[in-house]
Amino acid sequence: MQAYLERARWSDGFICDHCGLLGEPYRFANRPGVFRCRHCTRDTSLTAGTVMERTHTPLSVWFWAAYLVASQTPGMSAVQFQRQLGLSRYETAFQILHKLRAGMVRPDQDRIGGKPEEHVEADEAHVGGRTRGKGRGVHDMVLVAGAVEVRQRKLAGSRNKRKSGRYAGRVRLALVPDRSARSLGGFIERTVAPGATIITDDWNGYAKLGERGYGHIGRGSKHAIFALQGRA
Ligand SMILES: [Zn+2]
Repeated sequence: MQAYLERARWSDGFICDHCGLLGEPYRFANRPGVFRCRHCTRDTSLTAGTVMERTHTPLSVWFWAAYLVASQTPGMSAVQFQRQLGLSRYETAFQILHKLRAGMVRPDQDRIGGKPEEHVEADEAHVGGRTRGKGRGVHDMVLVAGAVEVRQRKLAGSRNKRKSGRYAGRVRLALVPDRSARSLGGFIERTVAPGATIITDDWNGYAKLGERGYGHIGRGSKHAIFALQGRA
């Protein structure tokens, strides 16, 4: 999922938030969402500008959390949520739960990608793995579809021309039963504004988006499966 967010934000390669230089950054094994510019040595966070901004929580926890929120019976408490995520702090669990409910999976919210200068990237991932408390070898994999707005950073002035860059805007996530055109197309129709341009991989579940009134561009990249392990 991290690779997905990275691709959504910097489809043409990493761009430093501070000096605007394009180029492969330094990466840190223990800080997976942080990229250090080789030119100015300042850090840029992958999740800046998204619902995940300024969190110290690993991305895998966010997607696991999104899965729990999307698949739970209504009214799960923050205490239960904290326990299932294995988080040490109640406050962290409460904040994640609140942000997800407010910004990501509320079914009545606006559809994303309505502005002509934005496009939307859509993908789906198998999320799951061993479920806490269910013992060894039990796997509850679910398919989560995601759509993210890719926005163009506004130019602050001619001096900052290089500061323009793409970043991730609003995100929508939902459980889907399978990778069929019906399931994935239905997800897109529920979450993305009609007429928006959508970039997906070449999976044929997305092949008919043009018929549903969207501009569709195939990315030609491989489908990815993200299993969030180690949560047992
Ligand atoms: Zn820099």
